Amino acid sequence: MKQSIRAAVLAAPRRFNLVDRPAPVAAPGEAVVRVSSTAVCHTDLSIFTGEHPGIKYPVILGHESTGIVESVGDGVTGMKNGQHVIINPIISCGHCDSCLRGAQQLCRNAGLFGREVEGSMCEFVRLPVRYLHTLPDDMSLADATLIETLATVRHAQDRLGVKAGESVVVLGQGTTGLLHTRLAVIAGANPVIAISRTKWKLDMATRMGAHHVLDISAEKAVDEVLRLTGGSGADIVIDTAGGAATLMASIEMLRPGGRLSPYAVSHECCTQFTTFPLYYKEISIIGSRALNPTDMAPAIDLVAGGQIDVAGFVSATYPLDRAADAFDEYERNPGKVLRIVIDSTAS
Ligand SMILES: [Zn+2]
Ligand SMILES: [Zn+2]
Repeated sequence: MKQSIRAAVLAAPRRFNLVDRPAPVAAPGEAVVRVSSTAVCHTDLSIFTGEHPGIKYPVILGHESTGIVESVGDGVTGMKNGQHVIINPIISCGHCDSCLRGAQQLCRNAGLFGREVEGSMCEFVRLPVRYLHTLPDDMSLADATLIETLATVRHAQDRLGVKAGESVVVLGQGTTGLLHTRLAVIAGANPVIAISRTKWKLDMATRMGAHHVLDISAEKAVDEVLRLTGGSGADIVIDTAGGAATLMASIEMLRPGGRLSPYAVSHECCTQFTTFPLYYKEISIIGSRALNPTDMAPAIDLVAGGQIDVAGFVSATYPLDRAADAFDEYERNPGKVLRIVIDSTAS
């Protein structure tokens, strides 16, 4: 292995520097991973633009990451050189009440790899092996970055308890919306109704198995959802768009006793929201945060087994030294891009 490695350091909002750093060495219980691919998501974009609260710059971004184990430290079993891996980026302390309950995503001392901890927009990373999950050797390491997102989607649907025969509406058909649509179809939900204002995303939703696709705003979709569910309203609404307007529409399109996942992270204040529908319709609003480590293996299996086809989500690949261009494209073309990937092996 090399003495020094290249890293794309975000020195300040909108300012990447490519720097040489000492190569990491695996301590006991750790592995060094040769980074292959890092997908860029909205969290990364908000750190890039300076909109993400509480960020200390400089920071090395990258948390949707795959690679190949380069070396392991003393005492490591079950992980060896050459294994293809995906990183679980949710850093947890292992000793707080949440961790002891097995809810590592709610760790009191949680951090995100690629935010509080240096991430994968570099050539090699070092981290405890408990954050590594093995991938099949024949799976594309670029496409496999989607598995981290799929695990967060799986976590949300696990919390919702999606059952066969239930009607599910998915608002927004970006990466997470499409994966929600597919996972609901696999769970046997019927009908699964996908809503977006972007035609090609609805075409992908059809490929994901959506029973109905609606090119319509969330507000205008309420009547249509009622019609498609025989007047009763949906059992479940998953909002991957986020914001005040979709929250109110989501509640309206639910049947009495329905469940809502406000999946998209939004800080928008919902001034029209009252708790009345929670009383009158017994609506349950079910939060979900990131992923639990137990979501990773099933997410890998869903892709490895072909039940979820993540080919076609990655629309562009950039080398490490063009990280800034990747973020520019992601920021300029949100309606055209699902995932952009940084390839740490290219130059
Ligand atoms: Zn992400
Ligand atoms: Zn903890």
